[in-house]
Amino acid sequence: MSNEILSLIYTFSRKFNDPKTNLAFDPKNKNILATFNNGNVNVTIQISNGDEHLYHDISRLLKKNIEQIPGVLSVNIIITAEKNQNSVEKKFKIDVKNIIAVASGKGGVGKSTFAVNLSVALKSLNLRVGLLDADIYGPSIPRMIGVSKKPEMNKDKKLVPIENYGLKSMSIGYILENESPTIWRGPMVMKALEQMFNGVAWGTLDYLIIDLPPGTGDAQLSLAQNSKLTGSIIISTPQEVALTDARKGINMFKKVGVRILGIVENMSYFICDKCSEKHFIFSKDGAKKEAHKFNIPFLGEIPIDSKLRHQSDSGIPCYIDNPEGDISQKFISIAKQLDKSLSS
Ligand code: ADP
Repeated sequence: MSNEILSLIYTFSRKFNDPKTNLAFDPKNKNILATFNNGNVNVTIQISNGDEHLYHDISRLLKKNIEQIPGVLSVNIIITAEKNQNSVEKKFKIDVKNIIAVASGKGGVGKSTFAVNLSVALKSLNLRVGLLDADIYGPSIPRMIGVSKKPEMNKDKKLVPIENYGLKSMSIGYILENESPTIWRGPMVMKALEQMFNGVAWGTLDYLIIDLPPGTGDAQLSLAQNSKLTGSIIISTPQEVALTDARKGINMFKKVGVRILGIVENMSYFICDKCSEKHFIFSKDGAKKEAHKFNIPFLGEIPIDSKLRHQSDSGIPCYIDNPEGDISQKFISIAKQLDKSLSS
């Protein structure tokens, strides 16, 4: 259904041309991007200069027509006048050298596990690291880093991030009551995310790692557009069903001009205790091949490992539990690769 709605939106938008460039509003022309998530539509119109008044009519018409589409609950039209990523006036501002979004097309592929262990690995390289759990629909960072206390407010009315294992972290999960369902509407999502950036006393950081919610909805788009992302890392398992959704994530980042720093394949294989052989449960090399196809760096593969699952559940990241272990060393190697590529 979401594809049908998106194609209806574009059928309508293509009827209009940008008054400056004369190009039709078509994703192929990189001047429009629509996302649909739980009935909420976000349309970003990328214009070539700051003459925003020229675009008010088209945004009104687009909004009115999209609202008529069955299944659409709300429509948000954003006009952005940036030419490229570097000239963007970003809304979310913190003092950090690199902001990396960890993303996945699907839930349950190990995105949060990766975000936590990458953060700990970067920290072990003597870097100052913050971890922002932006997965507001299912925050799992508090459990994975073994924290359950609520953050305090400082005298400047900013939330003080919680520190554990030398990492600073913030999660909506620290603030909301456990287990209570949270219903987020579009504007609330933006507000909550902005609070977690600008409303937190992060201090000076080398890295802020953001655990994004899975998929390509409001929250992902808002973060990609409003924070000065250095780049994103896509996590996928090797099987086709996860890769199909990972591709959507790749395309979303490409469209909004966010560099993709690499793909990580999680749950690549399982080493049996008895026969010591590798078993490729979710197919073999799927994410690696995808990385080559899209010409994106392949950062590494993480096997399925019951210890890693247990460490996540008990709030002890694998490097803290066993720094010399094979999987800990895989995270260290990814962290080193990343830091090297971003420092050069
Ligand atoms: P996502 O953030 O993509 O929803 P999570 O990181 O929450 O996924 O992982 C989902 C579940 O799978 C968690 O219980 C986690 O401990 C487990 N898990 C993730 N990666 C692995 C792995 N490589 N081996 C074993 N368990 C894993």
